[in-house]
Amino acid sequence: MRLPSTSEERQAARVPDPGSDVRVGLRAVTKTYGPVRALVGVTVEFVAGRVSMVVGPNGSGKSTLLSILGTLTRPTSGKVSHGLLGRSREEVRTVLGWVGHDSLCYADLTGRENIELAARLHGLPAHPAFEAARARFELGSFAERPFRTYSRGQRQRVALARALVHTPRLLLLDEPTTGLDTKSIDALRAVLRDEASRGAVVVVITHDEGFASAAGDVRVALDRGRITGDAE
Ligand code: ADP
Ligand code: MG
Repeated sequence: MRLPSTSEERQAARVPDPGSDVRVGLRAVTKTYGPVRALVGVTVEFVAGRVSMVVGPNGSGKSTLLSILGTLTRPTSGKVSHGLLGRSREEVRTVLGWVGHDSLCYADLTGRENIELAARLHGLPAHPAFEAARARFELGSFAERPFRTYSRGQRQRVALARALVHTPRLLLLDEPTTGLDTKSIDALRAVLRDEASRGAVVVVITHDEGFASAAGDVRVALDRGRITGDAE
C-alpha cells in the first residue's frame, strides 16, 4: 500500500468511515483541586462533524473540562470516553489537536520551524506540511522570524497551523478568539467548519456569545462546575 503523500490524501485517509460514530464524552465527572470543585457531576458528549461551543463565566470549569477531554488532566471521579479515537492516553494524544492559552510553540524558533517540528513529531514530511500550512493560514514572511516577535494574530495562526498539522480527529481550543480582529475571527470560524466537516470532533471554549452562536452547532453552558444546559 502506498502511503498518503499529499495533505489531501492524508486528510482523506483520516476521514472516519461514513456512519462511523465518533463521540467523546464525560460521564458523572467531578474534578476537585483541594477544596475547589472545578467540575461537579458533569455528563456531556461531543460528536464528530459538529462544532461544539463551551461557554460560561470565569472559573466555571471550562478549561478543566477541555483538559480532561484532551487527557491532560485526570478526573477525580467519573468516566471519560474517547470512543473510536482510542482507549489509552497515548492513542488519544496522537489524534489530538490542542490550542490552549500556551501556544506550545518555541519562542526562539520561527513559525516555519515550529510547524515543521510538529510535523516531524507526528512522522510527517516537514516541508510539505509547512507549505500546506502556509497556504491555508496565509503565513507571510513573518513565518521566517522567531515566534517571540509575533503579534497575537500571527501567534494564533501559527499555533493553529501547528495544532492541525497532523489532521487531528479531536480538536480542542481554549478561547481562540482572544485578541483577534474580525477578519481573523472569520477565518477561524471557516477553519473550525472545515475541520468538523472532514469528521473531526471540534470543541471550542469561548466567552464570546456572538462567536458561539455564529460559529457553533452545539452550545454547552457551564456554571460553577455544572452543566446548565445546551441548545442541542
Ligand atoms: P474557566 O476556564 O471556566 O475559567 P477553570 O477550569 O480554569 O475555569 O477553573 C475552574 C476552577 O478550578 C477555578 O476555581 C480555578 O481556580 C480552579 N482551578 C483550575 N485549575 C486549577 C489548579 N491547577 N489548581 C487549583 N485550582 C485550579
Ligand atoms: Mg479557562
